[in-house]
Amino acid sequence: MTQIPPSQLIDRFGRKVDYLRISVTDRCDFRCVYCMAEEMTFLPRAQILTLEEIYLIAKAFTDLGVNKIRVTGGEPLVRKGLLNLLDEIGEIPTLKELVLTTNGSHLPQMAERLKQANVKRINISLDTLNPTKFKEITRTGDLHQVLSGIEAAKNQNFERIKINAVILKNRNHHEVCDLVQFAVDNSIDISFIEEMPLGIVNQHNRAEAYYSSDSIKADLDKQFSLTASVEKTGGPSNYFQVTDTKTRVGFISPHSSNFCSTCNRVRLTAEGRLLLCLGNEHSVDLKEIIRTHPNDNDYLKQAIIQAMQIKPEKHEFDLKEQPIILRYMNATGG
Ligand code: SAM
Ligand code: SF4
Repeated sequence: MTQIPPSQLIDRFGRKVDYLRISVTDRCDFRCVYCMAEEMTFLPRAQILTLEEIYLIAKAFTDLGVNKIRVTGGEPLVRKGLLNLLDEIGEIPTLKELVLTTNGSHLPQMAERLKQANVKRINISLDTLNPTKFKEITRTGDLHQVLSGIEAAKNQNFERIKINAVILKNRNHHEVCDLVQFAVDNSIDISFIEEMPLGIVNQHNRAEAYYSSDSIKADLDKQFSLTASVEKTGGPSNYFQVTDTKTRVGFISPHSSNFCSTCNRVRLTAEGRLLLCLGNEHSVDLKEIIRTHPNDNDYLKQAIIQAMQIKPEKHEFDLKEQPIILRYMNATGG
């Protein structure tokens, strides 16, 4: 069995970083109301990392002890050449888990190839089961395409499929039980996410649309029997098992339950910024480093090790104020 290298990525608070999330593009075929503005200007191609550069950085991180990589975006499946990149990352021997987050729209055509590329688990975003509401929330999405995508993923027997649902009061909060029932019927997991104030959105007031994980849990308790799961996933979700089913329900609560003390992750943005915290701007420009020092992997690794020293202790979000983080989630790599 391949030896996992000991992590060299430890921050000032003693947290070990062994998980990298890579945004492979800021582009997307949807325009979800909590994630993007309706009119978006995307980055010019020259500003985003090439596939070769992404691989180089991913490899450097795995050499430094990272054993889990999530590929995300924007919508990762719209990036040309992605499957080849996944093939290469999936072959890094010390990588334990290659996982993906997608809106599901391209899964009908791509699920089989993703499985072949060694992708172990897939998170698929689904906020509503109502086609009209789906169109309202995603602005450009088609619910049936995503449901076919979920079906296609199920047929490939990934180790785990999980629905991600961002819940907004008076938009989709009435559907939390239906979404859990959908997950139960399909023997898959589901996580509910509190909306984070990243970038300025114009279709709702984020403070008014806030619907806490506790409120969702209280709604679910009326219909389901949920038992706190002892299983630790290393992520920000608190999990509950739905009794007598295969489904776990998770809650990602950036407002009501801060998960920073156990944070083990950093993010690589599509333009090559290593972002040390989702809710802060502390970052290091790895694109600049690899473009000014090509073929110097040790230099890159030293920069990554040093970057851990500026990882902030925690994030603080205030929904009543204008967002201090002006970057949208699609640029961040959610
Ligand atoms: N396009 C893919 C998708 O939608 O799954 C991957 C990228 S998307 C940015 C990743 C996750 O972030 C999705 O589950 C989405 O619902 C979530 N997300 C986007 N904007 C958010 C926000 N402002 N607050 C909380 N979650 C958000
Ligand atoms: Fe696209 Fe995902 Fe953002 Fe929706 S949440 S606009 S699917 S990147």
